[in-house]
Amino acid sequence: MKKAVILLSGGLDSATIIYVAKSKGYKPYCLIFDYGQRHRKEINQAKRIAEHTKSKYYLVKIDLPWGGSSLLDKTKNIPKNRSIDHKDIPSTYVPARNIIFLSFAASYAEALGAEAVFIGANAVDYSGYPDCRPEFFDSYQAALKKGMKQGVEGNSVKIFTPLLNKTKAQIIKMGVKLKVPYHMTWSCYVGASRPCGECDSCILRQKGFDSAGVVDPVIKI
Ligand SMILES: [Zn+2]
Repeated sequence: MKKAVILLSGGLDSATIIYVAKSKGYKPYCLIFDYGQRHRKEINQAKRIAEHTKSKYYLVKIDLPWGGSSLLDKTKNIPKNRSIDHKDIPSTYVPARNIIFLSFAASYAEALGAEAVFIGANAVDYSGYPDCRPEFFDSYQAALKKGMKQGVEGNSVKIFTPLLNKTKAQIIKMGVKLKVPYHMTWSCYVGASRPCGECDSCILRQKGFDSAGVVDPVIKI
């Protein structure tokens, strides 16, 4: 069976891509990162999702002690109720996060003999992070072809971004068909007992569920 490494955060998009990968005939192998984010809620949900799908996973702990993001530094405020403008990169941006995550994923994929890495990045309903844009993934793919054994041997690990150009509503509709357990996902940047409803991630999620005409099972509870 084909193998794919899945970058799993516990959020809605990454939960969806496990099911997309499975629907394309891949056996998923998940990577979950504890990178010093403000709360552990998304990590716990990611583990639940991996277990629910009976996927092997690694929880990789990495330190970014230099911070540089309101997602890493609890003394900084998470932006609330802002109008999301893709030209403005907000303080929740974590320096080079997807470059770091994809590098781990590429390493795991090559060691495992996996041909694919799936990442649930989105460049439509997103916060404007540059490492979620198509031009970044094209360049990163080119780097893997030059910088990895599988790459120079003509059998490069392929980066799949199946959600990149979809709206959040399209993602949710697709995920509902694939039976993604959205009740297990957590999107809020704040990590209180309930989603705050005001951070970018909550706003984008709510807009997506509303547009898809689906009740968010996390809010419903
Ligand atoms: Zn929130």
